[in-house]
Amino acid sequence: MKNRSYLIKPELEKEYPSVSYGSGVYLYDCNNKKYLDGSSGAVTASIGHGIPEILEAMNEQAKKVSFVYRSQFTSEPAEALAQKLSNIFPGDLNWSFFVNSGSEATETAMKIAIQYWQERGIYTKNKVISRWMSYHGITMGALSMSGHVKRRERFVPLLNDFPTVSAPYCYRCPFWENHMECSSLFAQELERAILRIGQENIAAFIAEPIIGAAGGAIVPPDNYYREMKAVCEKYHILFIADEVMTGVGRTGAMLAMEHWGVIPDIVSLGKGMSAGYTPMAATIVSDRIMEPILLGSKSIMAGHTYSANPQSAAISLAVIEYIEKYNLVENAKKMGNYLNDKLRELSKEFGFVGDVRGKGLLIGIEFVSNKQTKKPFDREINFTNLVIERAKEEGLLIYPASAGVEGVNGDAVIIAPPLTISKDEVDELVERFKETLSRLTLD
Ligand code: PMP
Repeated sequence: MKNRSYLIKPELEKEYPSVSYGSGVYLYDCNNKKYLDGSSGAVTASIGHGIPEILEAMNEQAKKVSFVYRSQFTSEPAEALAQKLSNIFPGDLNWSFFVNSGSEATETAMKIAIQYWQERGIYTKNKVISRWMSYHGITMGALSMSGHVKRRERFVPLLNDFPTVSAPYCYRCPFWENHMECSSLFAQELERAILRIGQENIAAFIAEPIIGAAGGAIVPPDNYYREMKAVCEKYHILFIADEVMTGVGRTGAMLAMEHWGVIPDIVSLGKGMSAGYTPMAATIVSDRIMEPILLGSKSIMAGHTYSANPQSAAISLAVIEYIEKYNLVENAKKMGNYLNDKLRELSKEFGFVGDVRGKGLLIGIEFVSNKQTKKPFDREINFTNLVIERAKEEGLLIYPASAGVEGVNGDAVIIAPPLTISKDEVDELVERFKETLSRLTLD
């Protein structure tokens, strides 16, 4: 056997520890080094590692059947999961289409939005407006809707030319306003974009309720989503909430959109939906959007071989039941507030911590070379990477969140431990983060 490197490594030349096992909020590598999983991997392992109830559900389903193809069979777990999602989400978000990754979920959302207009006899509404500083996935459709420079740059000529508007990034307000009540400026910008492009050409507007990978838990002003949704309604544009990172309890609500009382037309889910126990994601569609599809072609033009396989459905269902049984949404809110407060306190000790923000257990920290001027670090320093590597040495895992937009945003990380985290474990996380930042000061 040739000794080849695995292409799976993000940086092919770099050494990565090999994981051995996980237990609760901790991971252990093959050298028995212990890590506190402060980011649930990529904001995914929402209920922690090695949970016996999930392993049991996994086993039980495997004993029955792991795979059937969706055009041949439906299955009890897939039906039950769809029913569960309809029960836990607000409004008429009642229809689930199962896929395997967040990228597939947002791309499917885009296709369903376009199909919705076609079913109504409108064939020109094909564009999706997104926001600069956003991440909706790595496949070409999802990447076309994403404002993440680093992930787009190699493929720009191949991407769809979708329009973008500004992100509600209050720490560096795109309108140079220094207050939180600026929602109407964003709504006006969206309205101008729609008028310029023509509502007859726009199928949907897509947004992450709280911006994740492209900025680091950026929370919009309070009225932002209500005003943006109102503009969408005025111009007959669907509103897609990409809740791949924020959904299923992460922010202290089942859907982050609930914080603002806004019910989207379509929602994409992933990550926390199966908490990393299996690849599973979904596009959730409201009754209103399904109506013309049910009257028309009666089928969604999307799908993948593994869509709705009973094995993944059973696991995802067990994860959601676990979240409900142990009130983890409530814990995310409580521990999130506690962690947020502690990190804010900690930030006062370090001149290079510019901002601490987020909701529930989705917290972003932005680093600056000058706290007063908010000047970002030079790109060559790659400060985000320095923090992440130091943290790893300290036995703490955190997640990078920088869109790489020169001169627009800076370095940021996300702290998002499993929703199961206890107060003592939060204290330990903060202690390890403090140690990380202290070592950066000395370097
Ligand atoms: N949307 C959002 C908001 C995400 O955070 C991500 C993943 N970081 C995706 C979509 C893509 O999900 P996946 O990596 O599972 O394809």
